Amino acid sequence: MTRHSVASKAVDLVVVGSGIIGLGAAYAGIRRGLSVIVVDRTDAPVGATIRNFGHLCIGAQAGPAREFADASRDIWLRLARDAGFWLRESGTLIAAGQADELAVLERAVLEQDSGSADTDIRMLDADELLSRAPLRRDAVLGGALITPDLQTNPREAAGAIVRHLVSLGVEFRFRTAVTAVAPGRVQTTRGVLDAGLVVVATGHDIDQLLPDLAERVGVVRCALDMMRVTAPLPRTLDAPLLTSWSLLRYGRFDTFAETTALRERMHAERPDLAALDLNQMYTQLPDGSLIMGDSHVKAIQPGPFQPEAAFDAFLDEASRLFEADRFRVLERWQGVYASGPSEFLIEEPEPGLHVLAATTGIGMTTGLGLAERTLHNAFDRASLPVQGGTP
Ligand SMILES: Cc1cc2nc3c(=O)[nH]c(=O)nc-3n(C[C@H](O)[C@H](O)[C@H](O)COP(=O)(O)OP(=O)(O)OC[C@H]3O[C@@H](n4cnc5c(N)ncnc54)[C@H](O)[C@@H]3O)c2cc1C
Repeated sequence: MTRHSVASKAVDLVVVGSGIIGLGAAYAGIRRGLSVIVVDRTDAPVGATIRNFGHLCIGAQAGPAREFADASRDIWLRLARDAGFWLRESGTLIAAGQADELAVLERAVLEQDSGSADTDIRMLDADELLSRAPLRRDAVLGGALITPDLQTNPREAAGAIVRHLVSLGVEFRFRTAVTAVAPGRVQTTRGVLDAGLVVVATGHDIDQLLPDLAERVGVVRCALDMMRVTAPLPRTLDAPLLTSWSLLRYGRFDTFAETTALRERMHAERPDLAALDLNQMYTQLPDGSLIMGDSHVKAIQPGPFQPEAAFDAFLDEASRLFEADRFRVLERWQGVYASGPSEFLIEEPEPGLHVLAATTGIGMTTGLGLAERTLHNAFDRASLPVQGGTP
């Protein structure tokens, strides 16, 4: 990665953090012709943005999350084309193994048909689901397809976006920690930056830079166990695959009575998996390996130790679902994201100082749109010395 030595400098926009939300803010700025510097203490993006499933789960969101997700979708498609990284318009598959799981999906389809939104979810019978996913016939009754969703490879996308932003004129200062922020001023371990606007996009480490704000809002960390495996699968997995554990998590399904009943049944039947706060889901990377996960532990500072019980559960449940007789583990890792009482942290504690985070596990889906939408007004209000360019 490009590194820059010390320099005090004045620019239109300084972004703290090179995760997907910081990259989204930098992209929003450079497309408006602003001068932009992104500061990150690491040597490249290595936070939540590269540790996730790469699942851009647009159609499972509701409310503001859906608005940000829809806005992100256009930006992801444009960036993939212009920055040249792998992204597919895969949709999302949902596998249902029991009647009450199908009932949640049928309710979602019904709600959509009675609403004004475009149809973006449809039921799949077992044959169609099995043609798109290498699952055991006896493990599924049917399922659904959410159509607008996308999939990328999170290990490559952020790096490609950084290179693209550099080509557009964004300056990155890696291996440079930010120690204090104020309107118009960013103190770093390599000097001070003066800025028209400051965007703080440090993810879960917001409490290290702005502890009072983090405490007031109630943002903590959520630590997740993850795993990458290979398996002799008879067919490829056409799209990210969710299960009934996922239906319990996403805004679109959250308010249904059918989801409440499903949660009660699943928690009663599998308290071990409920205790892991499991979201049993899968994505297949272009090399054929499967990313699987995930478990959730929320705390101000979750411990670094990853209990083997979570990985055992991932492998057991995958063996029940997939048509494969063995899985070989390639990697295990812990990911951490910001967790708060609502889905987003959008604050302007002082004029010109913006703080942005996804405070649940949907930042890849929503982060680019969150940055674009939130900063749209800020850029207009700030009347910065715009050098040209088309938003
Ligand atoms: C295991 C896992 C699975 C997930 N799966 C999905 C998924 O499939 N779909 C989805 O939509 N979302 C998913 N998420 C959530 C998503 O990955 C996050 O919401 C998103 O990546 C957060 O982006 P960010 O830019 O806020 O944070 P990050 O990517 O964590 O970036 C923050 C950056 O700030 C830098 N930083 C922090 N403090 C400082 C400082 N003081 N000075 C300088 N730099 C600093 C860090 O070094 C880091 O690079 C998942 C998350 C995890 C952990």
